[in-house]
Amino acid sequence: MLSDKSIFTQAVHAGERTSRPDFTPVSTPIYHSVGYLYDSMMDLDGVFGGTRTGYVYPRYGSPTVHALEQAVATLEGAEDAVAFASGMAAIHAALLGAGVRAGTTIVAAGDLYGATYALLDRLFTTLGVRTRFVDITDLNQVEQALTAERPAVLLCETISNPLIKVADIPTLAQMASAAGVSFVVDNTFASPYLFRPLAHGADYVVHSATKYLGGHGDVMAGVIACSADRGRDLRERQKLLGANLGPQEAWLVLRGIKTLPLRMRQHCANAQTVAKWLSDHPAVAQVNYPGLPSHPQHAVAARLFADRGFGGMLSFELRGAGQAEVFRFMEALDLVLPATTMGDIYSLTLYPAHSSHRQLDPDVRAALGIREGLVRLSVGIEDAQDIIADLSQALEQVVRQ
Ligand SMILES: *Cc1c(COP(=O)(O)O)cnc(C)c1O
Repeated sequence: MLSDKSIFTQAVHAGERTSRPDFTPVSTPIYHSVGYLYDSMMDLDGVFGGTRTGYVYPRYGSPTVHALEQAVATLEGAEDAVAFASGMAAIHAALLGAGVRAGTTIVAAGDLYGATYALLDRLFTTLGVRTRFVDITDLNQVEQALTAERPAVLLCETISNPLIKVADIPTLAQMASAAGVSFVVDNTFASPYLFRPLAHGADYVVHSATKYLGGHGDVMAGVIACSADRGRDLRERQKLLGANLGPQEAWLVLRGIKTLPLRMRQHCANAQTVAKWLSDHPAVAQVNYPGLPSHPQHAVAARLFADRGFGGMLSFELRGAGQAEVFRFMEALDLVLPATTMGDIYSLTLYPAHSSHRQLDPDVRAALGIREGLVRLSVGIEDAQDIIADLSQALEQVVRQ
């Protein structure tokens, strides 16, 4: 059919659309196509009408992204999942889906991820949405806020940043349900390996897939897991919001997810070993890690995460240190990298006071427990003893000076 056409026509069409495959690739191909063809216009009409499965346009969904969505839905025990171009796009959409609109109120954890805090505190405020921030580990305070505010949504993270607090999701879900409030949980730090919030009463589970789901520090993505009805509603919103994930990115996250349990097992084991070692070091004043019996939510974490471990995130305070000493420590590290992200295979440090919590007054930071000597460590999947050796030599250098 193409053989008698001009090279201009051949160059455009040759090699394409050869499939209607009667075989199934073992691993999902990356479908970059924007358009899709069907046997008849009535078939296409059926796809638009929802009586036939298929794809029409990538903002409405596409095969590689759909494969990722099915994978996340399976891992989170959800009926559906919807992928987005970033974790922030997913959080934005989940809040709209959960009922946030002008005149409504959100009750949210005070120690949310910095950009989520800013979304509520700056952007949503200008749209007539109020947020009351609470200490999510103080259940009485949450109960009072739910009663007083009659909010549309309760929002928190399973494990928070940078103090690694653990929220009692099952109890919070009961409180939200009793108050008729939608419950949105950012499960980024825990990942479905440690905890599946939907099984414990959450309505929406949100991930920055940029972190543990992708896991290799090479892709930005977000995803929401939820019921089939909520998923349908989110897809309608996504058609208008347009923060869709691209097929290349979806494929990278899908590939990353295949080793999520293996990576998480190593992250948890390494973090437990490193946390214990740090807590015995004289230059370290305090270690925040839910796997340590001294952690205020150690019992909650043990109950939520069963026997799987306590995650890969920890933070610690250098004794008597200010910014100068912390910077010297971070620069003295060799294997552990000072990169502004977390939840991937590399061991990474971050200084919260100048990054995620930079906008806050030093007094407010101190009140939150984020002091000048605090360092966050995302423990990677390298050998724990190599991570410890690097931390040890860097601590030596700071102590000596
Ligand atoms: C990184 C992160 C986000 C934002 O996700 P992006 O993919 O960067 O948009 C939201 N919540 C948590 C807990 C995060 O760590």
